[in-house]
Amino acid sequence: MGKAFESVDAIELVTELRRSFDAGVTRGYEWRVAQLKNLLKICDHHEPEIVSALRDDLGKPELESSVYEVALLRNSIKLALKHLKDWMTPEKAKTSLTTFPASAEIVSEPLGVVLVISAWNYPFLLSLDPVVGAIAAGNAVVLKPSEIAPASASLLAKLMEQYLDCSAIRVVEGAVAETTALLEQKWDKIFYTGNSRIARIIMAAAAKHLTPVVLELGGKSPVVVDSGINLQVAVRRIIAGKWGCNNGQACISPDYILTTKDYAPKVIDVLKHELEAFYGKNPIESKDLSRIVNSNHFDRLAKMLDEEKVSGKIVYGGQKDRANLKIAPTILLDVPRDSLIMSEEIFGPLLPILTLDKLEECFEVVNSRSKPLAAYLFTNDKKLKERFAMNVSAGGVVVNDIAVHLALHTLPFGGVGESGMGSYHGKFSFDAFSHKKAVLYRSFLGDASMRYPPYSRGKLRLLKALVNSNLMDLLKAIFGLS
Ligand code: NAD
Repeated sequence: MGKAFESVDAIELVTELRRSFDAGVTRGYEWRVAQLKNLLKICDHHEPEIVSALRDDLGKPELESSVYEVALLRNSIKLALKHLKDWMTPEKAKTSLTTFPASAEIVSEPLGVVLVISAWNYPFLLSLDPVVGAIAAGNAVVLKPSEIAPASASLLAKLMEQYLDCSAIRVVEGAVAETTALLEQKWDKIFYTGNSRIARIIMAAAAKHLTPVVLELGGKSPVVVDSGINLQVAVRRIIAGKWGCNNGQACISPDYILTTKDYAPKVIDVLKHELEAFYGKNPIESKDLSRIVNSNHFDRLAKMLDEEKVSGKIVYGGQKDRANLKIAPTILLDVPRDSLIMSEEIFGPLLPILTLDKLEECFEVVNSRSKPLAAYLFTNDKKLKERFAMNVSAGGVVVNDIAVHLALHTLPFGGVGESGMGSYHGKFSFDAFSHKKAVLYRSFLGDASMRYPPYSRGKLRLLKALVNSNLMDLLKAIFGLS
């Protein structure tokens, strides 16, 4: 990296981008399409470099990098390209008697200059997916990737400079100092992905300028496992969504399992069996598992595992290798509810199972905690599915699978409460970076004198009937009937 990025640089950067935005550079359909196509070229021409950067930063297996970062991003760009014209077209709105004669529409207006701050665990997807929305919606954008995935951050900076219009799209690499300098500026939206502690700093900085925010955070996402299900399929999906997604370092990763005391031994048996089938007898050596991102996060996870009241609860795994930042898939049974592992988001390869006398108790356990980003349920019970979907508050709910809602562009992706605010993906990304401007077109006809003074009882009756869109009252008022 060159010289440090300071407040003066941030001021200069935002001024430059605002100049481009004000000049209308980013507003046109052609510009947006050209930038999106160039983003697609980054995916098409540089996948090997992306996979390699992700291996450097996280030891991420090629399949996970190619599919969960590059392919998902490619889909997102293609979808925006396919629907952009449609999304940009003003949406007709109904009019009423009050405004007659008139027509109305909702115009999706670009917000201006926006800031995207992303996290390290899916550094490509989490950086570029919001950028797709920002560009599609016609904004100038600054991306600040995470310093904790430095190979990915510098590759992103290099490729974006090479492929995109630098007068309106820029990358700032750096950590707290650089982000702080950026946050002092006035943005038209801040889109932040990361933890809820820093989210509070982001929101406080945004409040100074009345800047709206999207906060994509995390939380402890529960998995409720009912009995009488195809347990092998359920367990395979849990494993794929936990250890098969960055070794548990994913925002919608299963954080803990809730099942009944009777069923727990079966769940554990199948978990052990399938984990061994997937990762072998010595999973810490498996090439199909990402490593822990750095020693800070390794120590954080080790502390959870080594807590005295928890260490005796390991029923599978537990091996750690600090030199290589590896932790084996680890299952714990009935850890105390006040332990560290049950107090914080795990964000790693540890999976506690909590047992209940009756599955019914899961509602109380989940709803008594902060609202998670995702809540999962495995069951065949139709009533339970409906109750879960209606009564568990979470960013998203998936029944009989893990994490796959993220790949469905027709669903909004985002948290609620402690897991975040706002959402994106598909058209929701476009909307997240647009202002929905209300536009009403009136003619000079229909200039009813009832809204003008001097006021009278008759005018009052007429106006009330009109505002309530009550045709009968309106006719009565017109014809002076009581
Ligand atoms: P991180 O450490 O990469 O931090 C995120 C961003 O915040 C980085 O760009 C970093 O530079 C910036 N930052 C750090 N300290 C700052 C400060 N003091 N002031 C301003 N900016 C600062 O990522 P993380 O927070 O460790 O990410 C993990 C968390 O993110 C988990 O809670 C996870 O659940 C959540 N997450 C959510 C999503 C989602 O889509 N909802 C996706 C991934 C991760």
